[in-house]
Amino acid sequence: GKGLAVFTSGGDSQGMNAAVRAVVRMGIYLGCKVYFIKEGYQGMVDGEDNIVEANWSSVSCIIHKGGTIIGSARCQDFRERPGRLKAAKNLVDRGINHLVVIGGDGSLTGADLFRQEWSSLLDELLSSGQITPELREKNKNLQIVGLVGSIDNDFCGTDMTIGTDSALHRIIEAIDAIVSTAYSHQRTFIMEVMGRHCGYLAIVAALTTEADYVFIPESPPPGDWKKRLCDKLEQERAAGQRLNIIIVAEGAIDRNGVAITAEQVKKVVVDNLHQDTRITVLGHVQRGGNPSAFDRVLAMEEKQWDKAVELRGKSFQRNLETYKLLTRLKPPKEFFGDGAKVKEGYVMAVIHIGAPACGMNAA
Ligand code: ADP
Repeated sequence: GKGLAVFTSGGDSQGMNAAVRAVVRMGIYLGCKVYFIKEGYQGMVDGEDNIVEANWSSVSCIIHKGGTIIGSARCQDFRERPGRLKAAKNLVDRGINHLVVIGGDGSLTGADLFRQEWSSLLDELLSSGQITPELREKNKNLQIVGLVGSIDNDFCGTDMTIGTDSALHRIIEAIDAIVSTAYSHQRTFIMEVMGRHCGYLAIVAALTTEADYVFIPESPPPGDWKKRLCDKLEQERAAGQRLNIIIVAEGAIDRNGVAITAEQVKKVVVDNLHQDTRITVLGHVQRGGNPSAFDRVLAMEEKQWDKAVELRGKSFQRNLETYKLLTRLKPPKEFFGDGAKVKEGYVMAVIHIGAPACGMNAA
C-alpha cells in the first residue's frame, strides 16, 4: 500500500492526539502503510528509529490526552536545504510520499516549501547516487495534508484550529476562579493570556467572562488608553462593582506598535486608582489538559484534511474576502503581509459585533 506518515510539529495543542489517532486509523482502513515521525521535522531529518510504523493499537488510549504522544519539536535543520534533503532521503527510503502534518503556521509553511522543492530534492538525491532512478520515479509526487493544531486560532482559511476550544475552556475556568476571590477582596486582576499575533483567545475569553477590558494585538486601543482604562474601571466601581478583570493578550500593542504588558497595565491601575491589583499569567496551562469534545471531533473531521492542500496562498485570499464580508472594516496592514499569520477576519468580526455591548476598548 501507499506509505503515509503523520507527525506533529511546532507548539503543541490539545486535540493533536485525536488527530494522530484519526490519521493512523483512517490510513490503515484505506490500506496504507502508516508511519509515525517522532519529534516533528527533527525526526524526519534524523530518521532511524524516529520513523516507525504505526498500527491500530499504537493510537489506543490517546484520544483524551492533551499534547502529542509522538512528540513535537522546533527544528533548525529543516529550515536549511541540506536538512530537507536528508528528510527527503529518509522518506523515499521508506516509500513514504504521503505526509500529514499537524502543526501551526510555521509547520505548514515548512511543509509547503518541502512540497515545492520535492522534485529538485529527488533530483539531487539521484544525481549524488543516494537513490535509484526507480525510487525517484516511484516517489515523484509528494502529497501533503496539513491539520492546523494551534490554540491561538491563528490560521487563515479555517474557522477554528485544533486546540483553541480546549484552551478557551481552560482560560475561562481560570478567570471564573479569579473572579470569586477578586470579589471577596475587591481586587483588580490582570490576566495575561496567550496570543502573540492573534487576540482570539483574549477576545473570546473577555466576552464570556466578567472581564471589563481587553487588550489584543489586532486592535490597538485608540487615543489615551491609560485614561480610557482608568475611567472605565472607575465607572464600574462607582456602579457598585467589587472587582475588575482586565485581559491582556501577550502580543497586545498600542497605536505605535509598542507592547502593552500586564506589568504596565498594573502600574497604570495602581498609580492612578490605587486599587489592590494582581497579575495572573496563565502561561502553558492554556496549552495543557484534556481536549474538549469539540476539539476531539474537529481533529477527526475529514474536512480538516484538505486544508493542507491549499495551505497558504489560495486560502489566504479566501479569508480576505471573508474578512471584508464579516467586518466591513478596512483590513489592517499586516493582513496583507507575509502569508496570513493570523486570522484577523474572524477576530475582527467578534470585536465588531461584541464590543459595543460589552463596552470594551476594542471597538
Ligand atoms: P508552529 O508550527 O507552531 O507555528 P514554528 O513556527 O516553530 O511552530 O514551526 C515549527 C517548525 O516548522 C520549525 O521549527 C521549522 O522546523 C519548520 N519551519 C517553520 N518555518 C519554516 C520555513 N519557512 N521553512 C522551513 N521550515 C520551517
